[in-house]
Amino acid sequence: MKAAVVHDFKSPLSIEDVAKPEVAPDQIIVKIETSGLCHTDIHAAHGDWPVKPHLPFIPGHEGVGIVEQVGPGVTVVKEGDRVAIPWLGYACGTCEYRAFGRYVAKVPAKVDPFEAAPLACAGVTTYKAVKMSGARPSDLVAIFGIGGLGHLALQYAKIAGASVVAVDLVDEKLELAKKLGADYTVNGRKEDPVEAIKKLGGVDAAISLAVAPKAFEQAFRSLRRGGTLVFVALPADNYMQLPIFETVLNGIKIVGSIVGTRLDLAEVFELHADGKTQVIYEKRHLEDVNHAFEEIEKAQVAARLVFDMM
Ligand SMILES: [Zn+2]
Repeated sequence: MKAAVVHDFKSPLSIEDVAKPEVAPDQIIVKIETSGLCHTDIHAAHGDWPVKPHLPFIPGHEGVGIVEQVGPGVTVVKEGDRVAIPWLGYACGTCEYRAFGRYVAKVPAKVDPFEAAPLACAGVTTYKAVKMSGARPSDLVAIFGIGGLGHLALQYAKIAGASVVAVDLVDEKLELAKKLGADYTVNGRKEDPVEAIKKLGGVDAAISLAVAPKAFEQAFRSLRRGGTLVFVALPADNYMQLPIFETVLNGIKIVGSIVGTRLDLAEVFELHADGKTQVIYEKRHLEDVNHAFEEIEKAQVAARLVFDMM
């Protein structure tokens, strides 16, 4: 089977033929149809975090495909089912096939496999983050970073009934945010997001999706009294400045939110099947994986890239 493999953290990925896994008890073999490219994959491939993946490895955690074989003991899915393989526990691969356990989620028939892939990570992660933010009708919520995650986060905040301020450094992304329902947009290159958001009275919650500590600090300073800051992005630079005095006096809550549960993912798929969300993506081929990494690193992609493995 074909796969994009990371052999070391400094070199480009190589496209290789790797052995197709054998099915084992509690595992399934999935013929991958689509796989979304998440910024997290790029950080993993570059070994950017304090905890590094074991080499060699096959990145990717937004795989969607058809169950080809089920191992003994598997009862939740059967051959021919379309499933998503979210990042709920263990690394998986951008490859044609994948073996896995009971962590997959069935993709409803009404959900296109190219749209299901981003929902499996970007969707479920931001859906959970919006839940953690406590966003309610009449709240104002800031989404810092409009892209694969942000374009979905703002839709979930709208579904929760909140008004949304979208913050990014790229006008095209802010245009997309407006189309998807953002009430206000702020280009952080042209104006100070903190000033702009304070003019709106501050936000009840801010969700940090941009991979830069500076954006986390701006998100903190744009909060109202009693506001909640939700950490989601994992920047290579691991630290930010946090003023203790203002955090205490303003009763600020800071929470970390990682991916979501299978139940969250089922809800994400249900909302999408009901036509309540839009997934914005462009198709790429696996052979172009290194160029795709560059496109994301240079912020040239409006939302998500999805590899066509069919
Ligand atoms: Zn991801």
